[in-house]
Amino acid sequence: MTDFERNRSQKLKIILFTLKILTILFTAVPVFQKIFPQQNASFPTNDYKGTLFAELFTGAVIGLIMLLWKMLDKGNSRSRIYTVLELTIFFLLIMFAIYCSGGPVSSYKFLFLYLIISHAIEYGITTGFVVSAISSVLVVLTDVFGLLNNVSGNYLENDVALIAMFISIAWTLGYYSSMEDHFIDMLKEHANRDGLTSSYNHRYFFEVFEQDFETSRKEGRPLCLAMLDIDHFKEYNDTYGHQRGDAVLVRVVEEMKKHFPETDGIFRYGGDEFSIILHNCSAKQASELTDAFRSHLEQTLCVDEKENPYHVKLTVSVGIAEISPSMNTYLDMISRADTALYNAKFLNRNRVEVFSSIFDEIDNSADLKLHNTLTSMRALISVINSRDDYTYNHTNRVAKYCWMMARQLNLGREDARTLMVGAFLHDLGKINYQKELLIASAPLSDEQWAELKKHPVYGAEIVRQIGGFDEVVTLILQHHERYDGKGYPYGVEGPKLNRLSRVLTVADSYDAMVNDRPYKKKMTQDQAIAELRRCSGTQFDPELAEEFIRMLKKI
Ligand code: GH3
Ligand code: MG
Repeated sequence: MTDFERNRSQKLKIILFTLKILTILFTAVPVFQKIFPQQNASFPTNDYKGTLFAELFTGAVIGLIMLLWKMLDKGNSRSRIYTVLELTIFFLLIMFAIYCSGGPVSSYKFLFLYLIISHAIEYGITTGFVVSAISSVLVVLTDVFGLLNNVSGNYLENDVALIAMFISIAWTLGYYSSMEDHFIDMLKEHANRDGLTSSYNHRYFFEVFEQDFETSRKEGRPLCLAMLDIDHFKEYNDTYGHQRGDAVLVRVVEEMKKHFPETDGIFRYGGDEFSIILHNCSAKQASELTDAFRSHLEQTLCVDEKENPYHVKLTVSVGIAEISPSMNTYLDMISRADTALYNAKFLNRNRVEVFSSIFDEIDNSADLKLHNTLTSMRALISVINSRDDYTYNHTNRVAKYCWMMARQLNLGREDARTLMVGAFLHDLGKINYQKELLIASAPLSDEQWAELKKHPVYGAEIVRQIGGFDEVVTLILQHHERYDGKGYPYGVEGPKLNRLSRVLTVADSYDAMVNDRPYKKKMTQDQAIAELRRCSGTQFDPELAEEFIRMLKKI
């Protein structure tokens, strides 16, 4: 519910509440007049107790009804049973008031108007008509009762006018209220849609996704978020112009609407990026579903010569995140899907990547000690993340490479875990430095370099204090050592270096090569592979460097 809707509903509640209280107040008057009849028009001094009692009683009834109202009216939508029950009570109250004030000749028949007005406003024209019809029937029944009992007076004439008023008020107010609801729905729909593709927009995505996330978490239901981005779209725009680019965006959304279940929202997250909320869907199912879509687009999107004569490679990359107990808010899930998308782009595009976290894996294992230790490490890692974006993304990418290398080398579970924890923590020692030093664009002075080279020692020292992670400590300490013994901090030679730390060195260096740094431009994958080979046997373990290249070529 938006702020506007919340505000409107609050105001409406106040109006309806006032109308209902007025109905109760007015019905109370004839009832008390009947219970405590006055002798004459002037206030009898001996009846003051009765009047006081009547006022107190009315106050108590109103208080009770207010309490009941608050208790029953918790949500925004009240149950139908509650509405019918409330309406019945009001009809009975009004009929009783009419009975107490003379039946057919009563001047309290107007009380039905309050019911008609409140229901026409709250539920629209149909309910307004139903309430006015019931009210009219009850008025007619009262009149028939009068006729049968030979009650005289001009009440019949007045009641015809009253019934006409009931119907016209139900019609005008109900019509207006239904029209307003329709208009608000239209405006909402308009405000929630993207003008070009008519998918839902970024603003609405945040509104819906927050709710879906909270509901799935509460009910323990699976939920996945897919972030989809068109590959090389800028190039397509530059080659064929924005109009044809726009047509591609529209086409992608049309295909998405055909492919994904209707219940799953499709949103334009921005530019050429879309998000899809996949309800009741595991990461595996989400990955299969989006991969089928990716493959469908690869075969159909601008593949023919007429549409794409310059053969701009137009495919999509997808990042997926699954809801997990380790997430604090829905924003964590968006950020994970984004990271997964980044990985998909990074791994040569046109692919689906599911966010995987070593932390989640360990959370799900029964290893409580490891879980507890990792919780304290998580705090350390969030310290690195909060300081410097590059280190954060670099760490995640290095961990990803290490994860793939663990598979490439068929490492056992323990070794794979050590390598991953080492990958996440290898730059931990950098928390000792000023942010300016880490992201400096000018070359560092000799003293600054000498200081920065101590970060493996600092990081290893922090993890050593935690205890129980001896091999991870070694990995952190050795990740800048070289195979030829010319690395730092200790200049340990190849075979004496831990094998996992040699893997980490290759992954860490490759990532540094293929990413922009303030002081150097990134290399292409081919250039980086050539560089790995050039430094094989000197900086890198030759066997592991080749395995790394083999792993890269598989992606
Ligand atoms: P990548 O594979 O890394 O995603 O490369 P890319 O060229 O697609 O890069 P990116 O996603 O960062 O660029 C988005 C491009 O989408 C930039 C802009 O040219 C284009 N774009 C964004 N909004 C619109 C739009 O409404 N219409 C058109 N025609 N193009 C848009
Ligand atoms: Mg793109």
